[in-house]
Amino acid sequence: MPLDPSRTVSELGELRELTGDEDGAQRVAWTETWERAREWLRDKVAGTGAVEEVDEAGNQWFTLGDGRENALLLGGHIDSVPNGGWLDGCLNVMAAVEVLRRIAEEGTPPVPVRLVNWADEEGARFGRSLFGSSAAAGSMRDQAELAKLSDRDGVSLPEAVGRYGVSLASALQAHAQLEGAGAYLELHIEQGPVLESLGLPLGVVLGTFGVERSRITWRGQAAHAGSTPMDKRRDALAGAAKLALAIRDIAREVGDGAVCTSGGVVCRPGIVTSVVETAEQLLDQRHLDVDKLARLLALAKESAERFAEEENVGVEWERLWNIEPILFDDELIALADEAITEVAGSSHRLPSGPLHDAAEVARAGVPTVMLFVQSLRGLSHTKLEDTKPEHLELSVAALDRLASKTLARLAPSSGV
Ligand SMILES: [Zn+2]
Repeated sequence: MPLDPSRTVSELGELRELTGDEDGAQRVAWTETWERAREWLRDKVAGTGAVEEVDEAGNQWFTLGDGRENALLLGGHIDSVPNGGWLDGCLNVMAAVEVLRRIAEEGTPPVPVRLVNWADEEGARFGRSLFGSSAAAGSMRDQAELAKLSDRDGVSLPEAVGRYGVSLASALQAHAQLEGAGAYLELHIEQGPVLESLGLPLGVVLGTFGVERSRITWRGQAAHAGSTPMDKRRDALAGAAKLALAIRDIAREVGDGAVCTSGGVVCRPGIVTSVVETAEQLLDQRHLDVDKLARLLALAKESAERFAEEENVGVEWERLWNIEPILFDDELIALADEAITEVAGSSHRLPSGPLHDAAEVARAGVPTVMLFVQSLRGLSHTKLEDTKPEHLELSVAALDRLASKTLARLAPSSGV
């Protein structure tokens, strides 16, 4: 069976019919609809001869060839957010199915080729993303916290995953699946506007952004809005407001794709007749370069000190969460560039703002790369999510080319 990218597009439509409704995709992990999608996937893969295995974290694996040593891994996630789009996660899976069919047709591959459908990438039900891939990567270290999570209906995470044979106690054993793996490839919709704005169908992902999240508390003095002269005020909101504007210059100064967002400010007492006494400000900063990420934070702190002095208010910083940038493999990035250029004429390199399963796999030490295909209007996690069919087909062709190139590198005769 030669590669048929148009089949991927029609299968994605089939999956949409099977597991979506008028509000969008409903394949939330650990639900009946999700299970139906997994069964459907099993039927789709059946013709290739790949052998199925579900690991201790609920990840669904299909292996062509023997064992796991030096395997080529192709991954995605069939779960969606509620009212999600028709491509997020499942494009990756269905493109990989098509590649698997093509490879199976040519006989036994030189190294095992394995498709993985990661369990619960979205974290839509329990608020915890990357469940299956973080278990396989070994970075799921907060079992006690996970055990306390429950959904809107009060069903606990251990109970929900238990229905699918998964237990937090043994989930980390899924790590065996990644041992000895040769490479991991993942295709995904961009979920952002960059490729569309450049007029390009496809890009190579360099890695996922490092993130610094902070809560900044500004402390001034509540005072009567009528009786307090302007020069006597200690207005906490003034500090927050200045910082909210300054981070735009800071992002520009550091550059190379830096993004900074002040996602909210909560003011107290928060009444129209009082100067703001405390302003709690949220800040999210992201960069692909670890030093530049540190500089984004340092510059914001410097500015905050200056604004605190100017406004005669106090300022305190609290780190809410952080993660280092995760860089993909240089050699695979180069191969991905070649593959994209061959099918689409030109390629583009870009970072990923969102985290993906691929980031977990890369963290586990498996050489990894991702391809992005253009998203129309940059929309995702909504039923409006879309990509032109011709771009979807190009993305399947590019993943296939990349898989061939990677297989050639991993084959024992190539000496790698
Ligand atoms: Zn996704």
